[in-house]
Amino acid sequence: MGSTGSIGTQTLDIIAECPALFRASVLTAGHNHRLLAEQARRFRPDMVVIADPDGLRPLRESLADLPIRVECGPEALAEAGCRDNVDTVVASLVGYSGLIPTVNAIRAGKEIALANKETLVVGGAIVTRLAREHGVRILPVDSEHSAIFQCLQGESTTQARKIFLTASGGPFRTFTAEQMERVTAAQALRHPNWDMGAKVTIDSASMMNKGFEMIEARWLFDCPPEKIEVVVHPQSIVHSMVEFVDGSVKAQLGLPDMHLPIRYALGYPARIPSDRPGLTLREMAALTFEAPDLTRFPMLGYAFEAIGRGGNMPCILNAANEVGVRAFLHDEIPFPGLGRLAAEVMQRAGFISDPSLSDLVATHAEATRLAEETLARIK
Ligand code: MG
Repeated sequence: MGSTGSIGTQTLDIIAECPALFRASVLTAGHNHRLLAEQARRFRPDMVVIADPDGLRPLRESLADLPIRVECGPEALAEAGCRDNVDTVVASLVGYSGLIPTVNAIRAGKEIALANKETLVVGGAIVTRLAREHGVRILPVDSEHSAIFQCLQGESTTQARKIFLTASGGPFRTFTAEQMERVTAAQALRHPNWDMGAKVTIDSASMMNKGFEMIEARWLFDCPPEKIEVVVHPQSIVHSMVEFVDGSVKAQLGLPDMHLPIRYALGYPARIPSDRPGLTLREMAALTFEAPDLTRFPMLGYAFEAIGRGGNMPCILNAANEVGVRAFLHDEIPFPGLGRLAAEVMQRAGFISDPSLSDLVATHAEATRLAEETLARIK
């Protein structure tokens, strides 16, 4: 799901490298019907789904000579992840849109390779409970969570004392608050280490991404937020660490390349051999670590506040952030406006302490509307 995005295209690289192990039986995309058609022609899935209704006709026309079902809309997307010949769903949709398709796939008993962290930010309690009930494994694709998951192999999570979640610090790590008032979307989109989609790149620049990853780790590893420490590590070589009760710390290292965590999730519990370049430690000058600055990066603090309050608060924060990121990408608000927007929407949206899935859907709609109203005042 999300085959034309950054994780989607890299997942297809791995499928192409390992034809004996994997086959893409379904591909879904949001808007990019041209790339989806190319992928379908190359990988020959049984079915493709495009979310954008305007993409349906051109997609059907370009695939007319192939025996591939071409569909559009939420029902087709729901069906896509539940088909009989699907073993694993790679969930790499963007933002809140990932929640319901992932829930459907879990209900159908499919293993989930999860790249869409917002699914757990918004609905972590419900999603992890459903996964337990259906005996479904959620395998992390996010590089930090893949690192933590790898460190925990052969260990009991009850013996883990702390998780060190590493963060690159993004392109504005060394910027002053004044400089950050003037940064542009183009600057924020130039991430120093990772090549990712626009949403997650902006979230990295604001450190919202690390806040979301803290929430994601809370649910994936059933770890209370106070045991998760965010550490800024600008080289992005140590992908995260786990400290155990005896004081021993395990880390997973590698080049900043998403192929590695995707490959691990797809191959788990086996490791699939790779010809990609590995780490050359002798060429590395230094690996450095520092504390994050919550004054310049308030989104990280809001994430701790949201998970501390629990209920639908992370869903509210996520909706405010999605509206804020869109507005920033369109040059409608300054970069620190993301924080101002999140603070206001978290204060104004209705709090529900134990939300159902439909409460979360309603919360997302309400918080999105509130955020759009608020935008006009912080422009
Ligand atoms: Mg990550």
